[in-house]
Amino acid sequence: MPEMPEVQALVDFLTHRAVGRIVTDVELGSVAVLKTFDPPPDALLGRPVDGAQRHGKFVDLDVDGTHLVFHLARAGWLRWSEAMPTSRIRPGRSPVALRVRLDDGSGFDLTEAGTRKGLAAYLVSEVTQVPGVAALGPDPLAATFTREEFAAILEGRRTQIKGLLRDQKVLAGVGNAYSDEILHAARLSPFALAASLTSVQVDDLYAAMQQTLTQAVDAASGKPAKELKDAKRSGMRVHGRTGEPCPVCADIVREVRFADSTLQYCATCQTKGKPLADRGMSRLLK
Ligand SMILES: [Zn+2]
Repeated sequence: MPEMPEVQALVDFLTHRAVGRIVTDVELGSVAVLKTFDPPPDALLGRPVDGAQRHGKFVDLDVDGTHLVFHLARAGWLRWSEAMPTSRIRPGRSPVALRVRLDDGSGFDLTEAGTRKGLAAYLVSEVTQVPGVAALGPDPLAATFTREEFAAILEGRRTQIKGLLRDQKVLAGVGNAYSDEILHAARLSPFALAASLTSVQVDDLYAAMQQTLTQAVDAASGKPAKELKDAKRSGMRVHGRTGEPCPVCADIVREVRFADSTLQYCATCQTKGKPLADRGMSRLLK
């Protein structure tokens, strides 16, 4: 799933490439993709793209005052093309969820692999009309997001820090991959309770979050959409690297499996050398 750094790079790319162009066609691969009824997709036709913005992991394309907002979900992606195919999508038979054509022949497809569809698009006059956007917590890279504000969020929460970091209502833009990376950089157990962190641990976590995300945004910036997935994967130190050596201490990277996700961590760096119980594993052994 693309997270803040990849979504920011997509937004930068769309700002550079789509702003100033006119929308000539919008096609839906499935009606379920569009979560709003009014205005209809045709309302965008003949109108200029005025801007692109990111809100958490949402992309917001401003088309002459109407906002096309989308969230790529787990298996969604944006595929840009300088010369869009002339054929039309066959609804229900294509991985393309939504197609936008621009007046110079370019455009993009929002695609989604797999059978569990989560990709969602909205057409709204105000971006806050998208429930997921309205509910977003602060953006950790916003200039106004201070260490004090972060400490206030953690205070009193008897929640595991891993879950808290990727909760979009708490912090906007961090998902499963970057939360693994942030916790590894901060040398914290993913299962540590937010409320139990010491002041020094909060300092370390705040610094690790800023550094990890800033580096990832810089690394993704300027890359075309098709290179972002590989760039994200290659920048990971522990996420998705089960069994490989930790780049800090050379212990092996371990994982904990859940019903629909997996986290990775280094026991030496993060849990005083003690491997965490893998609930997925114990469930299998029952
Ligand atoms: Zn390590």
